[in-house]
Amino acid sequence: MLNQLINMIFERKIFYENSYDIINKRLKLIKASFEYHYNANKNYREICNKYNIIPGDITNYGDLIKIPLIPIDAFKIEAERKLLLTVPMENIRQQVESSGTSGIPSISYKDIVTLDRIAVSILSLYREFFPIIGDYGMFFTIPPKYIAKLGLMKLITFMQVGFSGFDYVIDLPGDPPDFDRILKEILDQKGKSICHLIGAPFLIYDFIQFIKSRYPGKRFDLDPGSMVITIGGWKRKGDSPLCTRDELNGLLADIFNISNFNIRDIFAMAESNLFTMECEYQQKHVPPWGYFSIRNIENPLEKEELSGKSGILAIFDPLNNSSPGFILSGDIGRIVFEGKCKCGRFGQIFQFERRAVGAETRSCALYMDEFINIYQNKGKMENGK
Ligand SMILES: [Zn+2]
Repeated sequence: MLNQLINMIFERKIFYENSYDIINKRLKLIKASFEYHYNANKNYREICNKYNIIPGDITNYGDLIKIPLIPIDAFKIEAERKLLLTVPMENIRQQVESSGTSGIPSISYKDIVTLDRIAVSILSLYREFFPIIGDYGMFFTIPPKYIAKLGLMKLITFMQVGFSGFDYVIDLPGDPPDFDRILKEILDQKGKSICHLIGAPFLIYDFIQFIKSRYPGKRFDLDPGSMVITIGGWKRKGDSPLCTRDELNGLLADIFNISNFNIRDIFAMAESNLFTMECEYQQKHVPPWGYFSIRNIENPLEKEELSGKSGILAIFDPLNNSSPGFILSGDIGRIVFEGKCKCGRFGQIFQFERRAVGAETRSCALYMDEFINIYQNKGKMENGK
């Protein structure tokens, strides 16, 4: 089943299959992935033994709750993340980091099989959701070479493959963006290439504020089809959120004449390979080859919430070949609905709400302690102590 994964992703037909087919295929993929990690990863099998689960126990969605999840904090500790590996460390070709807003970055190891699947899935998702090939991209980031390990940069680098030209708003780390130059460059594209603005929401927001104060009341209509694609958090480090999504939509319509259909956000995390991209109705589609399970905040390991209700996001990611892709994240969100979206695609629609804070992280932290204990005991056994 996992051998079919790349073809399935590349073809993208699964987005238009009915819910019943998607649900069946997805369960088979998750089950195959669980079986693979269970058989190939001694340490993960140990955890499964502790929770008394074997692959044969997974027959329906209700059984997924039994699959042991990797707490996301485990990716912050080098010893832990090495113990999580299903493949030998020498097979790891890339280490992908989270932006580490909390200080300590998460690092996720990717082997060549995982990287192949990621590459195909990113390009496939771009082709599915963003008609941008052959256009011009203005990237609201610093050049990727300065932060190449960041997961978000991988998304940006892949997008550049299809562009006829692109530039970055910041040349060197620490330099302020030269918004006058950026505006001129964007307007220079008019009538030549459709120009898209892509990157950090706070930089795009600052750019709009710059234009509003420098050219009050003036509009700079971009060519029809221009998109704004935001990637990354909606906060500056440690700050409160910038503005609401509706406010950003309004500002982009006022200044650049960009409609909501062409304003899209991407939700991604370094530890998972399931990138959720927005369709023209600003709905975040969970890729149909993976599954988002919303868990009860008090009891995330045993209780899944119904569609529509908020909780802690657990991810089932069959793309991960390097380590089990079953993750308990630190994010709060909800499945808005599962079924046919207005855009015609089927699947789960996810809404990110916020990072888990305070008491909400208690059950996750307790689980992390238990998880580390099992692993540390395992490590002692392996060292013959
Ligand atoms: Zn949609």
